[in-house]
Amino acid sequence: MSRIAQNLQAVLQTIVAAEHEAGRAPGSVQLLAVSKTFGPEAVLEAVQAGQLAFGENYVQEGVDKIRALAAATPTPDQALEWHFIGPIQSNKTRPIAEHFDWVHTVERDKTARRLSDQRPAGLAPLNVCIQVNISGEASKSGAAPGEALALARAVAALPRLRLRGLMAIPEPEHDLDQQRAAFRRVRELYDTLRAEGLALDTLSMGMSGDMRAAVLEGATIVRVGSAIFGARTYHKEPQ
Ligand SMILES: *Cc1c(COP(=O)(O)O)cnc(C)c1O
Repeated sequence: MSRIAQNLQAVLQTIVAAEHEAGRAPGSVQLLAVSKTFGPEAVLEAVQAGQLAFGENYVQEGVDKIRALAAATPTPDQALEWHFIGPIQSNKTRPIAEHFDWVHTVERDKTARRLSDQRPAGLAPLNVCIQVNISGEASKSGAAPGEALALARAVAALPRLRLRGLMAIPEPEHDLDQQRAAFRRVRELYDTLRAEGLALDTLSMGMSGDMRAAVLEGATIVRVGSAIFGARTYHKEPQ
C-alpha cells in the first residue's frame, strides 16, 4: 500500500473513532483531502485509494489539477468533487465558478454575487460555505459572527449558489479543550442560523492537527492536508 493510502486509512480511522466517541453515526463526517502544493500524481494515488473529494487553495493550481484529473475517476458513476478553500480575490471568481463544485471561503456579499453571476448555466449550483472569523482578529479572513446571518440570507437568495453552511479556521491550539471551545463557538453560530430558518447542513472545520476536536463538536467536513500528503513546501501563486 502506498504511503498516501496508508495515511488516508489512518485519518479515516481517526474520524471514525471520533464519530463513535461523540455518539455520531459512522459516515456523518466527510473527509476533504487538501491537495494544495501536491501534484496530480499524488491526487491520483489518493483517488486509487478511494478518496474522491479534494480541496485546493490556489485558483490556477487547482484548475490545472482538475483538468489533469478529469479522466481519473475510478468508475464512470463516481465523479471527483473539488472544493475551493483558499482566500478569494475578486478578479479570480470566474475560474472558481467555472471549475469547482464547492467554495468554503465566501466572506463578502460582493464575492457571492460574482460567483452566482459567473456560475455556468449547464452546471449544478455552486455549493457555498460562509467563512466566519471566530477568533475575532482583524488580520484573519472570514465574516464577523455578527455579520454571518445577513450574509447567509444574501447568499441563500442568489440563484446559482446553494448555501450549505459555515467554515472556520480557528487559531491553532495544542490543547483539546481549547480546540473544542473554538469549534463549539462555530457550532453555536451554525445552530443560531438554522434556528433563523436557514437550511444548512455543513460545518467545515478541523484540519490535520485538530480534526478529532472538530468532529467531537459537530464538524460535517474536515479538511485534512499534511496528515494525508505529508509536509508542504509553500509557494505563492503568481498574481
Ligand atoms: C491547508 C489547509 C488545510 C489543511 O491543513 P493541514 O494542517 O495540512 O491539514 C485545511 N483548510 C484550509 C483552509 C487550508 O488552507
